[in-house]
Amino acid sequence: MTNKPVLVVGGGPAGLAAAHALASVGQQTVLVEKEGRLGGAPILSGYAKLVPSGEWARDAIGAMVGRVENNPLVNVQLSASVAAFSGTPGAFRATLSNGQSVEAGAAVLCTGFTHFDSVNKPEWGFGTYPDVVTTAQVEQMISSGRGVRCPSDGRKPERVAILLCVGSRDRQIGREWCSKICCTVSSNIAMEIREELPDTHVYIYYMDIRTFGLYETKYYWRSQEEFKVKYIKSRIAEVTSDGKRLIIKGEDTLVKRPITIPFDMVVHAIGMDPNVDNKSLAATFGIGLEPHGFIGKGSSYGNLGETSRPGIFVAGAATGPETIDDSIAQAKAAAMAAFALVHQQPVQTAAA
Ligand SMILES: Cc1cc2nc3c(=O)[nH]c(=O)nc-3n(C[C@H](O)[C@H](O)[C@H](O)COP(=O)(O)OP(=O)(O)OC[C@H]3O[C@@H](n4cnc5c(N)ncnc54)[C@H](O)[C@@H]3O)c2cc1C
Ligand code: SF4
Repeated sequence: MTNKPVLVVGGGPAGLAAAHALASVGQQTVLVEKEGRLGGAPILSGYAKLVPSGEWARDAIGAMVGRVENNPLVNVQLSASVAAFSGTPGAFRATLSNGQSVEAGAAVLCTGFTHFDSVNKPEWGFGTYPDVVTTAQVEQMISSGRGVRCPSDGRKPERVAILLCVGSRDRQIGREWCSKICCTVSSNIAMEIREELPDTHVYIYYMDIRTFGLYETKYYWRSQEEFKVKYIKSRIAEVTSDGKRLIIKGEDTLVKRPITIPFDMVVHAIGMDPNVDNKSLAATFGIGLEPHGFIGKGSSYGNLGETSRPGIFVAGAATGPETIDDSIAQAKAAAMAAFALVHQQPVQTAAA
């Protein structure tokens, strides 16, 4: 048994859950976060009400931040990253970018994802027209209390289109994966817009709708039946402007006809890219990435949360697109595996 702390890298929902779980069983933990505050994407990007709980991100994730920041067993290092990492399970040593050296029995990587940058999809107008925005920007408009307004002149949009799968399920730009949560988030945003601006028409352009599991009732059907959001199954060619309004050109793939519809605001439902740091994280920690560039997992069943290197675990959106609740669940599993390692009580594999 070692008394060395567990190193948790990344202070988003996964890292916060891992640090809290470890502290709950009396385990010293060092939490390293590269930004100046904890909370990960929901806090750093100013998300509004989360799906499926309906809680404001600042309250739900803010509470997770509070219980970690106030925990004497968690040593939080902000604006820091791991510059070097060496050793063996039970006896690792990390050198942080702030010069501090940390001994650790195990490490849990919770380094999350990077939002897809819509400029990589230039034909859909982002970066060219100010009223083409992302779901993350609309979340910020709502959470800041400013409300949903056209960035060009601050007017209330009369017609809003939300385009799904921007930066996901798109082989042409090397992003084959489904980002899992953006259909549900978009249906939720559509309802929030209709609630705030009841005279605004909201359309969702989709290839397929993946409001998976129980979300079908609460988001897909409710948005149509209660909030009159309109769904168009389509292939989009381009987003242009006639000088007054944005114009979406494409094909309605149900009736197989070209469609050209004007809008005041177009919202890109951006996907989840691998963290831009993943290559350097892989080199620093000596771990493998999976083919899309997310951090590779070992066994999915026996020891959830293993990476390719013993003693280093991974959880959350670092492993691929994940929801917050799944990220938290994975983080707790990884924390348990790290705790067992530090206390030399191997987790039994499924086959054992
Ligand atoms: C627009 C949008 C809306 C969403 N809304 C919802 C929702 O309503 N409900 C839901 O369930 N999911 C939602 N998601 C998904 C949600 O963002 C993720 O499930 C969640 O953020 C994953 O948590 P995480 O801790 O794994 O990663 P992150 O939130 O990405 O946190 C990772 C943390 O690690 C830090 N970090 C990164 N690299 C390093 C490094 N090298 N060193 C140190 N620290 C590092 C980051 O700064 C960050 O704080 C949404 C996603 C998008 C794109
Ligand atoms: S969740 Fe929906 S919008 Fe997101 S990538 Fe998958 S199908 Fe596209």
